[in-house]
Amino acid sequence: MQAFEALESNVRSYSRLFPAIFSRARGSIMLTESGRKVIDFLSGAGALNYGHNNHQIKAAIAEYLASDAVVHGLDMATPAKLEFMETFSSVILRKRGLQYRFQFTGPTGADAIEAALKLSRKVTGRKNIISFTRGYHGLSLGAVAASGNRFLRTASGVSLSGATFMPYDGYLGPAVDTAEYLRKALLDKSSGIDSPAAILVEAVQGEGGINVASKEWLQSIQAIAKDAGALFIVDDVQMGCGRTGEFFSFEFASLSPDIVVMSKSLSGYGLPLSMLLIKEGLDAWQPGEHTSTFRGNNLALVAATAALDIYWRCQNFSQGVQRMGEFMRRRLEAIASKHGNSFAVRGRGMALGFDCQVAEIAEVTTRKAFDKGLIIERCGPDDQVVKFLPALTVDHETLNDGLQIFEASLAEALK
Ligand SMILES: *Cc1c(COP(=O)(O)O)cnc(C)c1O
Repeated sequence: MQAFEALESNVRSYSRLFPAIFSRARGSIMLTESGRKVIDFLSGAGALNYGHNNHQIKAAIAEYLASDAVVHGLDMATPAKLEFMETFSSVILRKRGLQYRFQFTGPTGADAIEAALKLSRKVTGRKNIISFTRGYHGLSLGAVAASGNRFLRTASGVSLSGATFMPYDGYLGPAVDTAEYLRKALLDKSSGIDSPAAILVEAVQGEGGINVASKEWLQSIQAIAKDAGALFIVDDVQMGCGRTGEFFSFEFASLSPDIVVMSKSLSGYGLPLSMLLIKEGLDAWQPGEHTSTFRGNNLALVAATAALDIYWRCQNFSQGVQRMGEFMRRRLEAIASKHGNSFAVRGRGMALGFDCQVAEIAEVTTRKAFDKGLIIERCGPDDQVVKFLPALTVDHETLNDGLQIFEASLAEALK
């Protein structure tokens, strides 16, 4: 690791938390250069829902590369892009009664968020964005302006503007309906809150601590956006692609967002790919008005199509994720109750958080877990929540082994 310290910027972060050189990976297992096997419950922060080097998806990529098909073509039309859009429309959208246009943005989630905010402002002629306490949307200036984390906001070095923060579901305790507060603030012409171009929300907050919004709350937010003349944007960058048990994180609430933002696991292989799903009447862009060199990378599109073909043509995969999520939740709740009631378990599907309440407990637990062979990350305002994001394709034995390592590490941390 000393060579990395000497060569790489001080900004590196995950390599500090997991100090090893990782040379190979497959499924839910990473191998270090020295031959140690480590279980991965971080999954590239949600970019590897189908595991590392998924062999079925890899076959599609390898075949595409071998055929000398176009890998980079800016946003020129290619068979790979057409096949992706057609497959996504038939396998995902049509079955859910949804209809969207595709906008391929720059490769990162933040790029896609920027495009969504810019389009909302263009469509409505307004500037303000409503976002929520503990929300996370990326680190470009527009995206970080809508993100709650003070450490990351401060690092921008400019005054961030254009967003008004409102309390997320549950932020003020179970007795307060924060959607009602938002409704009042937006419909009251003297509330001091500028009329919003959009309301931007995560159905489950990932980086913010695995905070889960209820169906009723999300439905209210969608209705409030409509009443306020604002676009309703769901950031599905981390919680999409099956993470919460269904393809989209908002399906359980039967929402119909104006814009859906997707990235992380979209390509299915950890290749960068981001896009917006835009409701037909809202596609107000002039040709070329928002561009980027690396949009809709063909290799990533081929991988994304393969992932849809393999996992989403029938219900089995989704049902399996829901079953495994329930199993994880029960195990984590049992671990929590063993230690009195000082811990909380939250989440939906296979996005689960174990709230240690105290940052140090979470920190020591994850450090000890890595020593024992488990990569697991923390989240929340004080990094006090241990965040479980195993691959959705993880086998039962590996899942169990990882949970056991967590349990043992927590017990040691509490000693
Ligand atoms: C990771 C993430 C982003 C930003 O994606 P990047 O690719 O890191 O720019 C945006 N929104 C959510 C919910 C995320 O988890």
